[in-house]
Amino acid sequence: MVERILLSSPHMGGLEQSFIQEAFETNWIAPLGANVNAFERELASYVGIKAGSATSSGTAAIHLALDLLGVRAGDIVFCSTLTFIASANPILYLGAKPVFIDSEESTWNMSPEALKLAFKDAKASGQLPKAVIIVNLYGQSARMAELMDICNSYGVPVVEDAAESLGSTYRGKKSGTFGKFGIYSFNGNKIITTSGGGMLMSDDIDLIEKSRFLATQARDAAKHYQHSVIGYNYRMSNIVAGIGRGQLKVLNERVSQKRAIFQRYAEAFSHLDGIEMMPELDGTFSNRWLSTMTLDPMKILITPNELIDVLDEANIEARPVWKPLHMQPLFSGSKFFPHDEKDIVSERLFARGICLPSDTKMTEEQQQRVIDLIIHKVKPILIK
Ligand SMILES: *Cc1c(COP(=O)(O)O)cnc(C)c1O
Repeated sequence: MVERILLSSPHMGGLEQSFIQEAFETNWIAPLGANVNAFERELASYVGIKAGSATSSGTAAIHLALDLLGVRAGDIVFCSTLTFIASANPILYLGAKPVFIDSEESTWNMSPEALKLAFKDAKASGQLPKAVIIVNLYGQSARMAELMDICNSYGVPVVEDAAESLGSTYRGKKSGTFGKFGIYSFNGNKIITTSGGGMLMSDDIDLIEKSRFLATQARDAAKHYQHSVIGYNYRMSNIVAGIGRGQLKVLNERVSQKRAIFQRYAEAFSHLDGIEMMPELDGTFSNRWLSTMTLDPMKILITPNELIDVLDEANIEARPVWKPLHMQPLFSGSKFFPHDEKDIVSERLFARGICLPSDTKMTEEQQQRVIDLIIHKVKPILIK
């Protein structure tokens, strides 16, 4: 049996253990400690933002961001529809109501047109959202300039879900630094991993300080255990942060590797009519976390799901594109604003999209095996 080729798996750089070793030697095993502080500083400096607060997951960071923005039961929060469930679950944790916004073609991310419609509707109904969660899918930045302008014109703060786009840029500025808050994830499949973890970022140092308070059970400044608000147990441990410090050292290398993987797919499939690689908007630089493409059903016989099964039989892991959240049973009944009534972009991308193996440990020979199989299976529909 040939070795399985994975979608995206942890790829250690080599220095991680030295940071963990240091934590062991100083017995800083308990939550918090020197690695956590250093990881927060180092990541903030890498992306060019004032402060970060390390959390137990990216989901926890989104939850803290929404809590700090005052999202409470009955409030509305806008969110990109084409994303992983973790972008929106924290809205439900707080008892608030998500409203989903469609994608647009050039980034697969939130459509400024659909966002405008959602704001008009919210204004007319007398209830503006408390926050807008903008996702940067598979490393590609959303149209941040247009989206920020719209949110700013209504005075509504943005949480940038950059869980998949660490290392990407939009007009030279790092992804995750545009909103009131940005969040990153270090889950096992992300471009760098701590085995599990996240980071909440902001230029507002006071809010980041407050997030650390909320993430450690919101304990008041009293000798006895006293609590006035709801808190969480959401901090990253000092061991985990040590892995993160080591991973940060290879982040740029991982971005180059991911981009090279994407480039090889793009070149190999360039002659196949009906395959389109995920776009990269002018002025943006994607970390290409996952190499993703669409199959045009008018031009190609095989469907994404059939292709995923064929690859799986050859011990190759591929996945569908995220199922839009407005199509999820969990969110049935939630409001949704399409980019175009006649052509719902997120639904089309879901029907046609496939995420290809993008593991940075994959060799060129292994990738060639993936490419050869796809070229062999993707048959054009012959027009008679
Ligand atoms: C991975 C991911 C998250 C959540 O991160 P966790 O660290 O797994 O909680 C949030 N949003 C998106 C878009 C993600 O891909």
